[in-house]
Amino acid sequence: MNRIKSFIKNNTDTFRLMALLILIVVLLFVFHVVSFYRMAQVEIRDDMKQDVKVAAGIFDRRISDLGQLARQGALSIARVSEEHDSVEFAATKLLDTYTSVYQFKDCYFVTADNKMYMHNGQLIPVSDEQMESIWSDEDAPDTYKLLSGMGIGGSGFYLASPSYAGDKKIGYFLGGLVLSDSFKEEAASFMELDSNLFIIDANGNVMAEIDKAEDDRFYDLKNLYSYMTGGYIVDSDEPLDGCFSRSDDGYKIISFEGQEYAAAYAAVGSTRECNIVSILRKDDFLMSFVAQRGEEISIMAIDVFIIFITVFCMFFHTLRKEKILEEALCYDSLTGTLTREYFKKSATEILSGNKMNYCVGVIDIIGFRYINELFGRERGNEIIKLLAELITESIGSKELVARRHAECFEVLVADADSLKLSIIAISEKLKAFAVNVDVTYPVILRAGIARTTAKNRDIMDLVDKANAARKAVNPKLDVPIMDYEDVMQADIRQREEIEAAQEAAMEHGEFKVFLQPKMNVQKNELAGAEALVRWIKVDGTMVYPDEFMPVFESNGFVEKLDFYMLDQVCKMQKRLGEEGYELVPISVNQSQMLLKNPNYVEKVMGVLKANDTPRELIELELTETAFFGDTERMVDIMNRLRSEKCRIDIDDFGSGYSSLNMIKDIPFDILKIDRMFFSDSNSGTGKIILEKIVEMAQAMGVDCICEGVETKEQEELLRKIGCKYAQGYLYSKPIPMDEFIEKFMKKDPSAKASG
Ligand code: C2E
Ligand code: CA
Ligand code: CA
Repeated sequence: MNRIKSFIKNNTDTFRLMALLILIVVLLFVFHVVSFYRMAQVEIRDDMKQDVKVAAGIFDRRISDLGQLARQGALSIARVSEEHDSVEFAATKLLDTYTSVYQFKDCYFVTADNKMYMHNGQLIPVSDEQMESIWSDEDAPDTYKLLSGMGIGGSGFYLASPSYAGDKKIGYFLGGLVLSDSFKEEAASFMELDSNLFIIDANGNVMAEIDKAEDDRFYDLKNLYSYMTGGYIVDSDEPLDGCFSRSDDGYKIISFEGQEYAAAYAAVGSTRECNIVSILRKDDFLMSFVAQRGEEISIMAIDVFIIFITVFCMFFHTLRKEKILEEALCYDSLTGTLTREYFKKSATEILSGNKMNYCVGVIDIIGFRYINELFGRERGNEIIKLLAELITESIGSKELVARRHAECFEVLVADADSLKLSIIAISEKLKAFAVNVDVTYPVILRAGIARTTAKNRDIMDLVDKANAARKAVNPKLDVPIMDYEDVMQADIRQREEIEAAQEAAMEHGEFKVFLQPKMNVQKNELAGAEALVRWIKVDGTMVYPDEFMPVFESNGFVEKLDFYMLDQVCKMQKRLGEEGYELVPISVNQSQMLLKNPNYVEKVMGVLKANDTPRELIELELTETAFFGDTERMVDIMNRLRSEKCRIDIDDFGSGYSSLNMIKDIPFDILKIDRMFFSDSNSGTGKIILEKIVEMAQAMGVDCICEGVETKEQEELLRKIGCKYAQGYLYSKPIPMDEFIEKFMKKDPSAKASG
């Protein structure tokens, strides 16, 4: 989960870009649809206008065809009634024919005396009002006109043509109109839109409907129209029928009951008596448009979809590539935690991103090396992975964990106290796991922590401090966790205590010479001793040089101490000689600091002379690191010491940056080989190097002594490779002077004892 979050966090830019591109595609699509819709509105308007025009044309042709018939009817009745001198005869005879043979629905003949003959021979009276709408003095012979809404029953829609007998108008032939299916079909086939058309007479009556749409969506438009013609149009500057009566073509948006409608209308040319109207609800525009342009719209949608998918795929491809790259760079392959580099980067971002306090922890398992060696790397890796998992689980989303090396992890968390609790809990879980898999070595976590301060938010510095605290942890603590500040405080306090006590300790003789024997392994006898300082306080507690030497070295007190030790050893040799012991050389450690004193050689000689010490009874142990930097001066010091017949040991050889070459350039007597070659991790190669060093020393004509010999096997090895001397716990730990004399010194039978 954390990894996904951090992945998204680290790719915000890519995700933002992707979101932006998707937004652009969507906007483009919307823009397309909107402009398409606007285009559609124009197109629908044109289509509607076109539709009504086409229908009007077809209707016009149909009317003029039937108009000719009506004219013929009027002429025939005039002729036959003249021949037979009977209008009644002509009407009953011809009307029936015109009805059955021609395409009139019904036929009538209206006479000037308010009578109307029907095709079935019936004669009905016509009201004055009706006569008024039919009869007109302006109607010339051979013409016809369209009548509607006369209320004479049957079709409300008639073609009327006047009959003249000579100059006298004897009546009107009326032919009722029927809009046959073929007419509707013809009109519908020319229509672009799936809308309904209405044929409206001059009075606004719906005479016919040409329905192309198959559903009932437009059904209520009939109703709407009757409202419109009834003057119910609100919000519209001009009623629709007003437009019709002007008998021109047009298009108009009208409001009706809160809905907007588009109406297109066209006059039926020849008669100017009726109109074709198409009405479409504006809400249905898009539907009509989609129905009409469905194919184009789907192609556009597919295009957009393809662009969308392409953009998406491209992004995921880049993201995947970035992800793979990032995983390699940012995540540790074994545990999936962050790499140190990435930790540093992310932690710096977090620390600079806010002002909150954070805590850095460095966590590892005490003596993990042994788990690896005793139970195998695989088991070791299992434990590392579990540890990583448990730490990852314990931290929050804005906290980090990285693998430092092996089983060592770095964390950045908000709260130090909860980190401590987590470490304790994790420790328990690891212990349980170890028991389960028969790892009998105790799995104990240790941690050092460092907190951010107002001044310090530098992650590298905090990690270094936490790491220093980790190293300072006393593994015997119940909860082996150290706070850097506490370590520092403890260090400072300890240092202050040591410094405050050093002079008095010297005065009171609290610094004691302990001696550790050096053995000749070839002859199996005592060959000498090394003097090592112990601080035995008034209360009897013994302090080891590791604790105070670094302080003395930094404050210079070491010079006083070293000369004190030299003096003590010289005095001891003198006493032992006087007491008739067989004397052996005793070596004293000389701090690097001492060599910086230009009078060093003189001071040493001063001590030796003051005690009358034979040169061969004292050896000076110098470490090889003392020769770095100013080799020339060092060689000079060594030469001066040697010219005074002082013996020199090169201490700790092989522990630091040993250089065999350099050793060749300096004069010395004994090479003291560091005990690291006996450490168990060094067994294989250690032996070979040891052998080479001894070989080289022999070639140079100097003796070798090996430190840290703890077992008989090690001693045997030394014997085999020709190393002459050995020193180590196998023979004895450093012990007080008197104890040493008692255990190791023999009286010289040839000497005359004085005590
Ligand atoms: P060093 O000179 O290398 O002394 C040898 C150290 O190894 C001693 O520790 C000794 O107790 C320890 N040792 C001896 N045999 C064995 C063994 O078989 N196994 C193990 N594991 N350790 C063994 P110590 O006495 O604590 O001294 C530590 C260091 O303090 C010395 O290292 C030396 O550098 C310094 N030191 C001690 N006394 C003096 C002194 O009077 N003057 C100066 N300048 N440094 C001193
Ligand atoms: Ca030493
Ligand atoms: Ca040493």
